[in-house]
Amino acid sequence: MSVRYIIIWVFVQLIFVPGALAIADEYTLQRKQMIEGIADDVRKTAEHINKKSFNDIVMQAMDVVPRHEFVPQNLHSQAYENRPLSIGYGQTISQPYIVALMTDLLQPEPDQHVLEIGTGSGYQAAVLSQLVAKIYSIEIIEELGNSSTRLLDRLGYGNIETRIADGYNGWLQHAPFDSIIVTAAISHIPPPLVQQLKKGGRMVIPVGSRFQTQYLTLVDKDMQGNVTTRQVLPVSFVPFTGGH
Ligand code: SAH
Repeated sequence: MSVRYIIIWVFVQLIFVPGALAIADEYTLQRKQMIEGIADDVRKTAEHINKKSFNDIVMQAMDVVPRHEFVPQNLHSQAYENRPLSIGYGQTISQPYIVALMTDLLQPEPDQHVLEIGTGSGYQAAVLSQLVAKIYSIEIIEELGNSSTRLLDRLGYGNIETRIADGYNGWLQHAPFDSIIVTAAISHIPPPLVQQLKKGGRMVIPVGSRFQTQYLTLVDKDMQGNVTTRQVLPVSFVPFTGGH
């Protein structure tokens, strides 16, 4: 290595690395605070959700996904607050506590294939991508679907396949799924999604309309194919659109 090369190398380290670390530190700290906020909310809602804490692997996934990347530039400073944020097109990225709750309810395992309806920003898919083998995610708004697909590619989430479509009919080609997550509120549980759920699988879906209380609902399909539902928590989601 020539002396000149070493000098350039040291120069580059001095200029760029401390800056990069400073940015990483700023968001790392904010993410830790977000994790504490989620843990607080879990304790407050323990009666509804029947648990005092989420699975560690879920909290770890929340701790590594850079939420600021999934919100518009002007909201970067608010990205780690424990609340929903606007992502344009009248849509929102869900509150981190809700993302963690839905992820926890799915009981993710490393070999699972998951269907998501409502890609939105891509954040929920990115969290799941840390925990399961493959995510298939459908978005109905073309521009939003295209931009989140580009973002997920840029950030290197290689196990998420996206599609622009009405998610009401699921994604038959890749069915059945170990679990299904729906991130927009609908008046009823779409029968095609129940059909595309494996025996022993589960679905998390906000059920209710804009004018009723919506309930985050856990749908369980047992090994005989019998389906049971449980209302977990009152929630507020953007509406499920499309032609159903
Ligand atoms: N999971 C998203 C949340 C986005 S909000 C995230 O982490 O950011 C819900 C999304 O569902 C919106 O982007 C909305 O356009 C989408 N959506 C609503 N109805 C849909 C439908 N019928 N099929 C597919 N996506 C739908």
